[in-house]
Amino acid sequence: MTALVIAEHDHATVKPATLNTVTAALACGGDVHVLVAGANAAEAGKAAAQIAGVTKVIVADSPSLAENLAENVAAQVLAIAANYSHILFPSTANGKNVAPRVAAKLDVAQISDITLVVSPDTFERPIYAGNAIATVQSSDATKVITVRTTGFDAAAATGGSATVETAEGVADSGKSSFVGREVTKSERPELTAAKIIVSGGRALGSAEKFTEVMAPLADKLNAGLGASRAAVDAGYAPNDWQVGQTGKIVAPQLYIAAGISGAIQHLAGMKDSKVIVAINKDEEAPIFSVADYGLVADLFVAVPELVKAL
Ligand SMILES: Cc1cc2nc3c(=O)[nH]c(=O)nc-3n(C[C@H](O)[C@H](O)[C@H](O)COP(=O)(O)OP(=O)(O)OC[C@H]3O[C@@H](n4cnc5c(N)ncnc54)[C@H](O)[C@@H]3O)c2cc1C
Repeated sequence: MTALVIAEHDHATVKPATLNTVTAALACGGDVHVLVAGANAAEAGKAAAQIAGVTKVIVADSPSLAENLAENVAAQVLAIAANYSHILFPSTANGKNVAPRVAAKLDVAQISDITLVVSPDTFERPIYAGNAIATVQSSDATKVITVRTTGFDAAAATGGSATVETAEGVADSGKSSFVGREVTKSERPELTAAKIIVSGGRALGSAEKFTEVMAPLADKLNAGLGASRAAVDAGYAPNDWQVGQTGKIVAPQLYIAAGISGAIQHLAGMKDSKVIVAINKDEEAPIFSVADYGLVADLFVAVPELVKAL
């Protein structure tokens, strides 16, 4: 029994989501291999070989894999899929783009967003926005899995000594082509990797106030900035800051929610945070039901005071 983890990488380094996925793969019980499908990706391959617990890294290098086009990456996975009992992707935009294509071609059911490996064929996954946990048993020969990375600790990025093999890169499928990419550049930590997140809600009232009130707190704490969907929909914060069921799922060490009511769809994205602090002027706000520390206060007073105190 051998599990294959599809690495999330930028051709030079391996992204943290890969480490959590390796932990899930190790829990499946057998050897763990990692596929680095990229272009000029030898450095990422070397980084993957350092991950504790990984025994083999396969580097597939081809211009067709330079831009992560799902059709090409899926074909690359399928080229070696027969060797594996489990194929695991992180539940990232990339992973979720490729995994269903692989599952469909293998004619197996995808097991999505697992948070626990009960046994090699049985997994837990949240349903109904995290309000219930389903235990899913699969009788498929190959388990194609996406892994909710907040459900698994990261494997150590160093200490491993996997062998590195190369595989022939697939030809371009011709089904899609890369047009362009606009990347948001931020000094702040990426939300899904941030140890501290400071999130604002509709109460901020405008994009200007959001920046004026929340950014200094994030700067002081070296935190990522998040937002509720109401704040994003109102244009106070960019789309990629949204935390929740239809945004990002996060589990930082510290999550500070200011002016967020705590709707179930928001809680679905942050309730696994280690310590939750809520600032809300309504003492009945549902966010207080998940908060470790709650402050009933006007955020426009409380947040600047907190910044001053830090
Ligand atoms: C299918 C679906 C998916 C969804 N996905 C998401 C998602 O991914 N993420 C998400 O966040 N939401 C999501 N939502 C929306 C969700 O239901 C809520 O509407 C949203 O989370 C509310 O955002 P909010 O808490 O900022 O706003 P509100 O619910 O309006 O809450 C504002 C809060 O601010 C407090 N407040 C007001 N003024 C102050 C002040 N001066 N100081 C302190 N507190 C103050 C109020 O007491 C209130 O509790 C989804 C909804 C649906 C139907």
